[in-house]
Amino acid sequence: MAKYDPASLKAEEFINDEEIRATLDYAEENRNNVELIDEILEKARPVKNGSGVTCAGLTHREASVLLACEIPEKIQRMYEIAEEIKLAFYGNRIVLFAPLYLSNYCVNGCLYCPYHMKNRHIARKKLTQEEVKAEVIALQDMGHKRLAIEAGEDPVNNPIEYILDCINTIYSVHHKNGDIRRVNVNIAATTVEKYRKLKDAGIGTYILFQETYHKESYLKLHPTGPKHDYDYHTEAMDRAMEGGIDDVGLGVLFGLEMYRYEFAGLIMHAEHLEAVHGVGPHTISVPRVKKADDIDPDMFDNGIDDDTFTKIAACIRLAVPYTGMIVSTRESEEVRKRLLQVGISQVSGASRTSVGGYTEQERPHDTEQFDVSDQRTLDEVVSWLMDAGHIPSFCTACYREGRTGDRFMSLCKNGQILNCCHPNALMTLAEYLEDYASPRTKETGYRMIEEELKRIPKDKVREIAAEHIKDIRSSNRRDFRF
Ligand code: SAM
Repeated sequence: MAKYDPASLKAEEFINDEEIRATLDYAEENRNNVELIDEILEKARPVKNGSGVTCAGLTHREASVLLACEIPEKIQRMYEIAEEIKLAFYGNRIVLFAPLYLSNYCVNGCLYCPYHMKNRHIARKKLTQEEVKAEVIALQDMGHKRLAIEAGEDPVNNPIEYILDCINTIYSVHHKNGDIRRVNVNIAATTVEKYRKLKDAGIGTYILFQETYHKESYLKLHPTGPKHDYDYHTEAMDRAMEGGIDDVGLGVLFGLEMYRYEFAGLIMHAEHLEAVHGVGPHTISVPRVKKADDIDPDMFDNGIDDDTFTKIAACIRLAVPYTGMIVSTRESEEVRKRLLQVGISQVSGASRTSVGGYTEQERPHDTEQFDVSDQRTLDEVVSWLMDAGHIPSFCTACYREGRTGDRFMSLCKNGQILNCCHPNALMTLAEYLEDYASPRTKETGYRMIEEELKRIPKDKVREIAAEHIKDIRSSNRRDFRF
């Protein structure tokens, strides 16, 4: 039987079934152990350290105890600490992005995904470079600066060369004052050599959802195609990092398996990356299975309610305090609002999950990957965020300034966020307001900018940021950054 070793490069050793089961037993035994729960909560709290703030994070065992705990006041405490952590490391900024579906050709047989190969009634489509350009213009015209590209796995229709061409096209389009400054990539697990090519193409984060950490279920849920190989899929992030990609994004597709098992696996994966590469995941996404073309989420017995989902998000926040957390438009406005209070730092806005969807007037459903719950426009999302006290940020500065991997994490830890990320968020918000916002959003936005500029601690930084915002308002000068 495989032995648990977070520093191993073998899937079954760093995501170890026996260790996960022992963790779940430990969590069950201690879910009413108030003394231990208080100790874990205390450990999770952010503490002041010189000019910055640090957080100890939690082990998968500690975090699993919190997840198992059902004492209302302790859950409330988890939410409060999750929010404290989010504010300490990410401030009140929320980064915005949109997915861009390139191709729904796929050779896999994933049981939860309508792109599975046997689905004959879904229209198959792959964007040409001209179509990519048109989609990017439509996205730029909304105000997006950051994309996550998505594609099915198909070595013939979507080879790596196709993905690289698309990335080049995306970065080359500059429509009016628009540009896409960060392309994150969500494509199937691949080789070190291909990850190196993605790195050379200038991608931001490489995102790959594990779907489920439960190997037996994984094999059943992915009965055919290259994705069937659990080990190859689970070890993908190590190959990505070996290929030079510093920022990787993890995720579980909640609803497929028992959430406590998935949660322990996810935190173990983060611990593994830290143990091997010295840096944890850049982001963690929390997708839930949704209705789609020939997919009924009720086919899976492990659906989780909104309360449990919120608790999972809060416990992730406590366990991996420096990792960004993403919630997509799979979730409704109401659920997104709740999650924003427990540690989410990035949301998608105005997403279309169909291939070529952004250039269509009406939301198309024929090539869609899943139903989008939050169907608001980007302007509505931006305005809604500000009304709730969050700064919508279109910032992409970090990776363009080489602040990736552990360099990004140390910026977080040194408390330099208010002198760096905060002004960057305000400058990119000003760009959005000037170029794309409705009159109401513009008015709210400039009021927010005025107030938020006062919170920049360094006088010099505050003056420069204010100067740049003036430039943005009075000219076409764009893309200032610290
Ligand atoms: N094809 C790539 C791969 O194999 O990892 C990733 C791209 S896929 C377009 C992005 C993600 O969508 C998948 O990893 C899966 O978690 C999610 N997804 C698939 N079907 C879904 C559904 N019915 N509801 C919600 N999310 C779904």
